[in-house]
Amino acid sequence: MFDKFHEECGVVAIYGHPEAAKLAYLGLYALQHRGQESAGICTTDGAQIYSHKSMGHVADIFTSPVLATLPGGLAIGHTRYSTAGDTVLLNAQPFSVACNKGRVAVAHNGNITNASELRTDLERRGAIFQASSDTEVILHLLAHSSERTLAGSLRDALLQLEGAFSLVFLAQDRVIVARDPHGFRPLAVGEMEISGGRKCYAFASETCAFDLLGAVYLNEVEPGEMIIAGPEGITRERYAPEQPRAQCVFEQVYFSRPDSVVFGRSVEESRENLGRLLARECPADADLVVPVPDSGVAAAIGYSAESGLPFRPALIRNHYMGRTFIEPSQAIRDFGVKLKLNPVRHLLQGQRVVLVDDSIVRGTTSRKIVRMVRQAGAREVHLRVSCPPTVSPCFYGVDTPTRSELIGYDHSVEEIRRFVEADSLGYLSLGSLRKAVGDDKHEYCYACYTGDYPTDLVNIEELISARQKKR
Ligand code: AMP
Repeated sequence: MFDKFHEECGVVAIYGHPEAAKLAYLGLYALQHRGQESAGICTTDGAQIYSHKSMGHVADIFTSPVLATLPGGLAIGHTRYSTAGDTVLLNAQPFSVACNKGRVAVAHNGNITNASELRTDLERRGAIFQASSDTEVILHLLAHSSERTLAGSLRDALLQLEGAFSLVFLAQDRVIVARDPHGFRPLAVGEMEISGGRKCYAFASETCAFDLLGAVYLNEVEPGEMIIAGPEGITRERYAPEQPRAQCVFEQVYFSRPDSVVFGRSVEESRENLGRLLARECPADADLVVPVPDSGVAAAIGYSAESGLPFRPALIRNHYMGRTFIEPSQAIRDFGVKLKLNPVRHLLQGQRVVLVDDSIVRGTTSRKIVRMVRQAGAREVHLRVSCPPTVSPCFYGVDTPTRSELIGYDHSVEEIRRFVEADSLGYLSLGSLRKAVGDDKHEYCYACYTGDYPTDLVNIEELISARQKKR
């Protein structure tokens, strides 16, 4: 089956560093939260492209002997998350090919919404696909382009794509990066000085990767921009006409790390604002504010500061969850959530608690957490969510279930409150979300909260049914 939902990924690229593979590895390590299913790095020494990818976590995959097989001064890397059913290594990135434009590798964050049409058309013209991922389409478009240069064929290929893409390419002597004209997914530019005052360039989904590399964050790859880092230096060009920006607001709400600057804005600042505005819109007569870690922490800090209620980390998260668990045959109630979170009874007993989280998707996890807090002795549990109800799936690279599985789609706030068994439930309004992320110029995509998609999804029925099949 063709997987159109190439979701939740992190990408990194390094140009001009003698230890490019190690830097790509560090970058991916910092971006691990963006995808935990598989990871890969491609490097080049100017002659060949070397590649290693595997299922699992970055730190487990890239051991010293593995990194030693990835020589050269240029590298790209990818870490990927995808829902069950297509976790095959074949879909792990980067993809690397030798074609009429030379040896090229690519890694992609986002989701190309017209990939199915492009693929059908390419197959009709004789293209043979190896994986079910939409990213392979880009390489075929590149190979089929009548343009002679790599940059020219890339331009050609990118102009045929619709949807969300932050891309990093590796060629034998250059790194090329590009962002879709709406700028759905982030991609940042960094630089560092190496011996002899030479400059090395780094590109990454989030700036937290630069902090680990010791690179300085310069700016974003602009929407519709292509940047080429090659022997002649760095060149930036707009490859597509300007379009309204549609930066993913969920990056600010949940997905990015709070220590990152995303779309030119501190994620921590956005999240604290979300919490402050939530406290104003949905106050609670309570004793303390408790975050659902880690997703609710920054918003809970904001809620506490604005409301004057003390912040108490009364849910402790175990960060060392492995990939598989041996469950007792006699199922323990809420086993899954207990592995991840445990309440601090001492803090909760007899208290009226404001529980802050970033979102309710299906409602099932939230219900388990509310129960857990209550069972630990809380007298009242007031759930506060730092964004509006999630009512529509994302087709631009965030993993959301189908509309019918989203509790916010066909339930009122009161019905959701009853389902999650909270004493009260409050969501942040769309207006406050916009304010919290500083969106005065209407540059964000809010489709998951409004159902209003910023691009024409001509094949929306097909996109929805593919998503249903996948689950
Ligand atoms: P539920 O109550 O089952 O809807 O789950 C809500 C929890 O899922 C919250 O703690 C969120 O932080 C988390 N969450 C929201 N969106 C996503 C996502 N796209 N991927 C993984 N977790 C998410």
